Amino acid sequence: MTEFETRAIHVSQDPDANNGAVIPPIYMSSTHKQDGVGGLRDGFEYNRAANPSRSALQEVLASLESGKFGLSFASGLAAEDAVVRATCAPGDHVVLGSDLYGGTFRLMNRIHRGAGIDSEVVDLSDEKALRLAIRPGKTKLIWIETPSNPMLGIFDIARISEIAKEHGVLTVVDNTFATPYLQRPLELGADIVTHSTTKFIGGHSDILGGAVIVNDAELHEKIRFIQFAAGAVSSPFDAWLTHRSIKTLAVRVEKHCSNAQAVAEFLDAHKNIEQVYYPGLPAHPGHELAKKQMSGFGGIVSLRFKTEKAAKDFCNKTKLFTLAESLGGVESLVNHPAEMTHASAKGSPIEVGGEIVRLSVGIENPKDLIADLAQALG
Ligand SMILES: *Cc1c(COP(=O)(O)O)cnc(C)c1O
Repeated sequence: MTEFETRAIHVSQDPDANNGAVIPPIYMSSTHKQDGVGGLRDGFEYNRAANPSRSALQEVLASLESGKFGLSFASGLAAEDAVVRATCAPGDHVVLGSDLYGGTFRLMNRIHRGAGIDSEVVDLSDEKALRLAIRPGKTKLIWIETPSNPMLGIFDIARISEIAKEHGVLTVVDNTFATPYLQRPLELGADIVTHSTTKFIGGHSDILGGAVIVNDAELHEKIRFIQFAAGAVSSPFDAWLTHRSIKTLAVRVEKHCSNAQAVAEFLDAHKNIEQVYYPGLPAHPGHELAKKQMSGFGGIVSLRFKTEKAAKDFCNKTKLFTLAESLGGVESLVNHPAEMTHASAKGSPIEVGGEIVRLSVGIENPKDLIADLAQALG
């Protein structure tokens, strides 16, 4: 089992040893019988510590990210929170990329800042600025989102990881937009990968989840302890459903990519659009780097309209593209970041302009998607 698609289907999915069920059951049990005090079967004791459905998911996540250890959480933000708590103490400092998910900024700014962990937004494509931002002995993490949400910025994971290592800083990559099918940050030198599995990995807009994948055993143990002791684990049902979704990740992402490319090219040629942000367009400033560190350009396309009013009118007119937060599901969604997903970033260094619209391009027929966008653009 060496290839991605095969591992996605077979890792930790052996048919049931007793009855041959091809799909392992959902283990809803909150606790496990012990054979005498401390006599655990297969290490299982209590659901918050470990659950067979969650363990199976964690193994496939690690395998797909080329990591040794996976940890599954109740949400993407719960996963991120565990990473920060496991690696930072009061007085420490985190460097955040200059375009990122609004909730990540809010987590650092509104929760961890209060606990004495400082954070600062830096343009990670500016090496000099990054070096200047690193505080010797204090900076513990550099947080990269690539492609970034919502502006689709592409940042050099290998180069940033190299600089981080020179300073003994850990690199975290939020790989939600790319998925491990298109990009594997641990192979490029990053230390920690995080996901909102709510998005492409879940893929059907019916699960909330998050994940952390690492290679280092000590780091894994620290994050695992937070998972266990603070308890933001994924439920057995969510873990099972996420595992089920992973089996089609490769085919879904292929289709997301080809549909997004078609949509981006259509919009790029449309007179009512000021700018299209999609790394698959040759004019995108990150196009060459994306070709190097990714094997496809993903399913998210952002647009800039002339005015905020034009952007909002468009959001109200699409029919197939449903106006909703989130992304990465099989159905296409449209989102107005300034007032939806990134509302918490208003007035901050990662504020998103009101003229920006973000599309999550689903896997419907691209002709129908383009027809819907065309009618919404008038
Ligand atoms: C949605 C999202 C998150 C947060 O994940 P939740 O599952 O909503 O907690 C983090 N990073 C990115 C890039 C996201 O899109």
